[in-house]
Amino acid sequence: MSPGARARRVCVIGAGAAGLACAERLRALSADVSITVVDADADQPYNRPPLSKDVLSGRVGATEARLRSDEQLAELRIDLRAGTPVEQVDTTTRTVVTKDEPVPYDDLVLAPGCTPVTPWHESAPWIRTLHSLADVRVLRDDLVLPSRVVIVGGGLIGLEAAAVLRGLGHGVVVVEAGEGPLQRIVGPQVAAWMEGRHRKEGVEFELGRRVVAVSGSAHAGVVTLDDGRRVDGDVVVCAVGVRPATQWLVGSGVELGSRGEILADERLRTTAPDVWAAGDAVSWPSASAERRLRVEHWTCAREQGRHVAEQLLAADAAQTAAFDTVPYFWSSQYGALLQGAGSFHGDEVIVDGPSTSLDSLVARYLTGGRLTGVLTVGSPRTFQELRSRLPGGRPTTAAT
Ligand SMILES: Cc1cc2nc3c(=O)[nH]c(=O)nc-3n(C[C@H](O)[C@H](O)[C@H](O)COP(=O)(O)OP(=O)(O)OC[C@H]3O[C@@H](n4cnc5c(N)ncnc54)[C@H](O)[C@@H]3O)c2cc1C
Repeated sequence: MSPGARARRVCVIGAGAAGLACAERLRALSADVSITVVDADADQPYNRPPLSKDVLSGRVGATEARLRSDEQLAELRIDLRAGTPVEQVDTTTRTVVTKDEPVPYDDLVLAPGCTPVTPWHESAPWIRTLHSLADVRVLRDDLVLPSRVVIVGGGLIGLEAAAVLRGLGHGVVVVEAGEGPLQRIVGPQVAAWMEGRHRKEGVEFELGRRVVAVSGSAHAGVVTLDDGRRVDGDVVVCAVGVRPATQWLVGSGVELGSRGEILADERLRTTAPDVWAAGDAVSWPSASAERRLRVEHWTCAREQGRHVAEQLLAADAAQTAAFDTVPYFWSSQYGALLQGAGSFHGDEVIVDGPSTSLDSLVARYLTGGRLTGVLTVGSPRTFQELRSRLPGGRPTTAAT
């Protein structure tokens, strides 16, 4: 940078997977750029995937879940403002408004992720969620004694929690509106396998049942189903999904979709000048999927964060590139690695020889005879091989 010139100021909102990946890439590409990262969470930046696995089980503590150590953060030379919720963004004056001093920016990166949906919050404000480190601390405090836990929602997080809680010796009932756990994501065959795997470990299910009310108290919850039956639990966990954490962007000039998602273009630019977006809160027009995608997985969030950093520092528009990816996720349940990539909405699903011991599974999703999605349990090599055959796919290992 020439003497006297002011450093370019980039403000990143959100210090999660996407925001921190963006900050790291910015620093790798430029020693001069001034980077401020603002996050509502009071904890130092941490990884969410271990929360519903090893942190909930107690196998690792909060420190191991951190995305970066103090030393690594210091090396990045970022102004990290934890515990600072952004209240508003003024895209005309280019200012981020917080309860503390405002943050001026030249370029802004929105990476606020999502927030859990809690439909019964009014009648049961004590209902537990599993999204943040603070949530896990509360849940672990709840579960000091053997308990019966009702988990509302049989998606990935609900099932991961079920697996961990069974491992800790708690009773678990999963209430799921679909006919099988994960069914809306992976289809009925794989859902049936997942159900069998969890039942084998003693998880009870209420399937095809909607919750109409949650009442009681934090340590004596009552979940009422749509057939009038009640499911009692010492603890009730709500795991019915998330929505983009973007309420504070309304009226900012950043266009949001009907579900609050940030509508970005193919380069991950928003509708406001020099405002970019990355991570779970963003939808973009995916060339390979031929539709807008919003992905709630760690790998995509990091890829987008890095991509935005590169676009933002590109010397001219001709050097910028469209973002695209084949969505990839992993999960871990009962010690087995579950991996998925691509789309699970194919017109044909081939499930290869599910073992009777229920320890492995390979499911291929075909569209018009073409492989468009793959999901495996306990079969990482097969997964890598099949993933590389997806359109735009590439081999990978867990957590990449
Ligand atoms: C319990 C759990 C387990 C998961 N397990 C897996 C897994 O096994 N595999 C997988 O692929 N994915 C998993 N995921 C999903 C993965 O963690 C997310 O895809 C990823 O964290 C998204 O990154 P992000 O940066 O978009 O959002 P986040 O990581 O959520 O970070 C967003 C940050 O923005 C901050 N923020 C929000 N609003 C504001 C505001 N107004 N002001 C300031 N800061 C704000 C938040 O505090 C947060 O720290 C899991 C998620 C959870 C919750």
